[in-house]
Amino acid sequence: MSEAFALDLPRPTGGCADAPVLRERGQREVFCGLTGIVWLHRKMQDAFFLVVGSRTCAHLIQSAAGVMIFAEPRFATAIMEEKDLAGLTDTNDELDRVVDRLLARRPDIKLLFLVGSCPSEVIKLDLSRAAGRLSEKHSPNVRVLNYSGSGIETTFTQGEDACLAALVPQMAAAPANAEPSLLIVGALPDVVEDQFRRLFAAMGIARVEALPARKISDLPSVGPNTRFLVAQPFLGDTARALEDRGAVRLDALFPFGAEGTTDWLHAAAQAFGVDEMLFRSVVAPGRERAARALEKVRPALEGKSIFFFPDSQLEVPLARFLSRELGMVPLEVGTPYLHRTHLARELPLLPSSTRLSEGQDVDRQLDRCRAARPDLSVCGLGLANPLEMEGLTTKWSIELVFSPVHGFDQAADLAELFARPLNRRDRLSDAIVPARANRREAAPCS
Ligand code: SF4
Repeated sequence: MSEAFALDLPRPTGGCADAPVLRERGQREVFCGLTGIVWLHRKMQDAFFLVVGSRTCAHLIQSAAGVMIFAEPRFATAIMEEKDLAGLTDTNDELDRVVDRLLARRPDIKLLFLVGSCPSEVIKLDLSRAAGRLSEKHSPNVRVLNYSGSGIETTFTQGEDACLAALVPQMAAAPANAEPSLLIVGALPDVVEDQFRRLFAAMGIARVEALPARKISDLPSVGPNTRFLVAQPFLGDTARALEDRGAVRLDALFPFGAEGTTDWLHAAAQAFGVDEMLFRSVVAPGRERAARALEKVRPALEGKSIFFFPDSQLEVPLARFLSRELGMVPLEVGTPYLHRTHLARELPLLPSSTRLSEGQDVDRQLDRCRAARPDLSVCGLGLANPLEMEGLTTKWSIELVFSPVHGFDQAADLAELFARPLNRRDRLSDAIVPARANRREAAPCS
C-alpha cells in the first residue's frame, strides 16, 4: 500500500473499543420485525410476504406500507379470526386454503414467506412445518419459507435478518474449487447495489452476487470460496448462517459516508488481491464527490450534539459517520444489540467521550436525554412526538432504513436526513420569535 493511500483509510484511535457499555433491560419502544416487509418486498421482485397474524398486524403493515396500495401488492395478512384463536377451526387447514387461493390467483409468485407474529395462537402454530408442507405441495413452482417478525423477540430491523437467514439454507452449495465470489449481504436499493457492482467490476472482481437476490432463481451459491461484505449492521444471524456454510465475512466499516464506503470497498479489494493503485483510481472520483457534497451539509451539523435511542441497530456506524465526517458530537449511542464482532472497526472510531448503551429501558433513556438536552435525538416514532413537545428536536430512525443511504453518492443524502430537522427547528424559531415580538408590540393597541 502506498503511504499516500494509507492516509485515506481510518486508523483506530482507541475511541470506544474498550469503553464500558451501559446494559439496560426494561420497557421498549420499537416497531416489530414485520416492518421489514416494507423494503424487502421492493427488493425481491417475485416474493410475497404473507403475515400470519392479527388485525393489528394487518393495520401495521398496511399503514407502514400505505404507499404501496397503488402498486401490485406483494404482501398480505392471513388474519387469525377469533374462532381460529378459540381452536374451533384447524388453523393449518385454513392457512393451506389461504395459500392455495393466493398462489392460484398469482402465478407470478415464486417465493412465499409465511411471516410469524406475536399473538399467542400464532406462536403456537408451527410455521416452519407449514412452510415445508406447502413448499412440497407447490413445488417446483413456488418455494415457501418462514421467519418470525414478532415484536416480542425483535427490533424492527431484525425482520430483515430473520428473512435473509431463512434464505441461506436455500442457497446451493458451491464446491471447494469454485471460482472465488463476492457476496453483498443486505437489501440495498437496486440503484445502490448497481453502483457497488460497477465499482467492483472496475476493480476487476468478476463474480459479485447479492443476498437477497432480486429473483429467487438468481439466489447465489455459497461455499468456502465465498467472501461476503455485510451492508447492514443488523444482519448477525444471516452472517452466522453464511459462515456455517463456509463463507468468510470481510471485516470492514459499514458503507456510510465517504470513509465507511472506502473502507468497505477496500476490504473486498484486499480479499481479491486488487492492486492498491487500481483500487485508489476506482474509488477516488466517488470519494471526492461524496466529500465535496458533505462539505455543503457540514455547517448545519458541525458541533451539534446527538443522542441515539436504541432502535434501528444502525446507531454505531451512523454516529461514527456523523462525528468523523460532519463534526457532530455523539453524547449517547444506544443500540438494541451491540454486535462487537461486526462493529470491531467502528467502535474505535467513536469519540471516547461517547456513552454506549445496549438494550432499552425507555424511561431511563428519556431521563438521560432530557438531562443532556442534545441538539438532535434519533428515536422511534413513538418517542419523537413527546420529545418534540418538550422542545427537543428529533429524527425518526425508521427513515434511515427506508431511504437509500449507502455508498458515495448517497453520503450527502444521509447527512441531509440529520440536517433537515435542525434546519426546520431553526426556521420555526425564526418564525416564532418575530411573531412573539409582533404580539408584544401589538399589545398596547389592543
Ligand atoms: S407482530 Fe406483534 S407487535 Fe407486530 S403488529 Fe403484530 S401483534 Fe403488533
